Amino acid sequence: MNSISAKILDGKALAARIKEGLKKEVARLTSEGFTPGLAVILVGEDPASQVYVRNKQRACAELGIRSWKHHLPADISQEDLVQLVEKVNADPEVNGILVQLPLPAHIQTEAVLDVIDPAKDVDGFHPVNLGLLAAGRPGIVPCTPAGVMELVKESGVDVAGKECVIVGRSNIVGKPLAFLFLQEHGTVTVCHSRTRNLEEVCRRADILVVATGRPGLVHGGMIKPGAVVIDVGINRTAEGKITGDVDFASAKQQAGAITPVPGGVGPMTIAMLMKNTVAAARRTVQTLD
Ligand code: NAD
Repeated sequence: MNSISAKILDGKALAARIKEGLKKEVARLTSEGFTPGLAVILVGEDPASQVYVRNKQRACAELGIRSWKHHLPADISQEDLVQLVEKVNADPEVNGILVQLPLPAHIQTEAVLDVIDPAKDVDGFHPVNLGLLAAGRPGIVPCTPAGVMELVKESGVDVAGKECVIVGRSNIVGKPLAFLFLQEHGTVTVCHSRTRNLEEVCRRADILVVATGRPGLVHGGMIKPGAVVIDVGINRTAEGKITGDVDFASAKQQAGAITPVPGGVGPMTIAMLMKNTVAAARRTVQTLD
């Protein structure tokens, strides 16, 4: 067995550094009378969603960003939810809007996300922002893919010309990430549940990102020696422990750099949400005359 000792990409430490910089910018904006504000909309009682919302609000408080939580009952109608989004769209104190997913089954997620003002869409899920990203134009970049790119940068590996393999093609992780790697001149392959020879494709990767929600899907035998491995997965074991989509023990024997779960992509997602919110507030100030 190859025994490279992988560099551990510490997402918690990197997120803390990014938030430190943002805190100063929030203080500056606040001193000018423009404290950034984030409205968080949570529907129902999903325990994981409640934890995510709590963590996001805690990060806001840490940085001096104002946040408002709108906690709605699981049986709220789509119409009422859309109305609330329209209300926060119109609120000048709100720079960022986040609708925590997943929404209950009777609500069409797209119908709600599409109503968010693209300028306040700090999750970057609105089709306008996804379209701008696909076209390589400035817009709001989804938080998890943006966090992945920061972690890749932290590895010290230059993306240009590298084989970048993404496992998972969701609209919130895999697809937008493919565009970010392309922008950095990577050669991108996106795998999914119908990909043939997944093991072989993964072994080609200089940079391998796994976002499937399948615990342990990728193991050391699928990793090219020295590759950068980013594990986006968040899975809860029967004992309540959080694990990723990569078998960390075997993967770290092969990888050149690897993210842990927890403490890898998760904290970076929140840091990027804060970054998007501060940037949205900054743009509001810039457009004022
Ligand atoms: P999703 O369920 O929308 O998509 C999963 C993707 O994985 C699909 O494209 C599917 O084709 C692919 N897939 C499933 N099984 C596969 C297999 N056996 N082989 C190859 N591909 C397979 O998931 P998502 O919303 O993109 O989330 C993926 C994971 O990332 C989840 O564990 C989620 O909790 C986690 N996540 C973490 C963060 C974070 O902040 N760290 C953010 C978003 C999502």
